[in-house]
Amino acid sequence: MKADGAPALIGLRESRVYMDTVVTIELSRREDDDAARRMLEAAFSWFGEVESVCSRFDPNSELRRLIANWGRPVEVSPLLFHAIDLACRGAEVSKGAFDPTVGPWLERAGFTREHRTGRSLPVGLETDAAGGVQDIELDRQRLTVHLRRPVLIDLGGVAKGLALDLAARELVNAGGFAINAGGDVLVSGSNPEGEAWRVGIRHPREAQSLLCVVALTDGAVCTSGDYERQSPAGKGHHIIDPATGVPAGAAIAATVIGPSAAAADMLATAALVLGPEEGLALLHEQQVEGLLIDQRLTAAYTRGFQEYLL
Ligand code: ADP
Ligand code: MG
Repeated sequence: MKADGAPALIGLRESRVYMDTVVTIELSRREDDDAARRMLEAAFSWFGEVESVCSRFDPNSELRRLIANWGRPVEVSPLLFHAIDLACRGAEVSKGAFDPTVGPWLERAGFTREHRTGRSLPVGLETDAAGGVQDIELDRQRLTVHLRRPVLIDLGGVAKGLALDLAARELVNAGGFAINAGGDVLVSGSNPEGEAWRVGIRHPREAQSLLCVVALTDGAVCTSGDYERQSPAGKGHHIIDPATGVPAGAAIAATVIGPSAAAADMLATAALVLGPEEGLALLHEQQVEGLLIDQRLTAAYTRGFQEYLL
């Protein structure tokens, strides 16, 4: 509903489930024609592709086959190489707050279930036997990944952002669009009403309320929150502080706005681990904007973030 009481226009909108998340794509155009359908199919297919390649839960995924083949260089698909490369760069810039090798801790906390089949087939690597980012050797020419030790790679902190960026490439001729993958959002152009897209940011402690709304025409808004997924074993939420091996507590929610969804996704996770002070310093250094909420519900944000607030 708009301020004048008229219902807001909505465009061509469709939702599907990938990565245990509802993914919604909205196009500003309203013609449901063949061209629109083709673009939607192509965009959604990236979510399926990223999930099937990068899943830690499916023993047949390319990622799981790579993990099983540790000890030698393994040629991987460009997509898996890119995802691991991005995650390793994320680890580097965040000085280890973002860490794609927290897999053993996640398994230990019971995050092992494939969301479609419900089956649990963990790798079963003990935390003290597992290698870290320093044990991942990437060869950009040969597209090989060499795990020098057993490393339980988890790409859950970058997969959605990466899929958002890839899906967006399929929609460049669609006019305005917004893709929402469970709180990680990428928008382009204007909404069906010809205005900036509005993205609501959930209140971390009141599931039905919004903390704030941001407006933008091009870019990603990615949020990590401790309320998002809970350990079935009662061991807390799904974002691990690599320094301790237990769920991060320095912040309860972190939102990042930036041009790349993959980067914003990783930086939100890293900022949540680091907490307000170091988190904001990282966002500043990476030239993105963001908002952090601590345990006392105090908000801290970068200077540029305010310009997006409605
Ligand atoms: P969501 O998937 O809910 O959007 P995030 O983008 O913050 O949340 O990603 C959280 C996921 O990232 C976890 O489910 C897990 O797969 C992975 N993960 C957990 N802790 C870390 C960490 N410290 N660094 C990188 N990835 C992590
Ligand atoms: Mg994220």
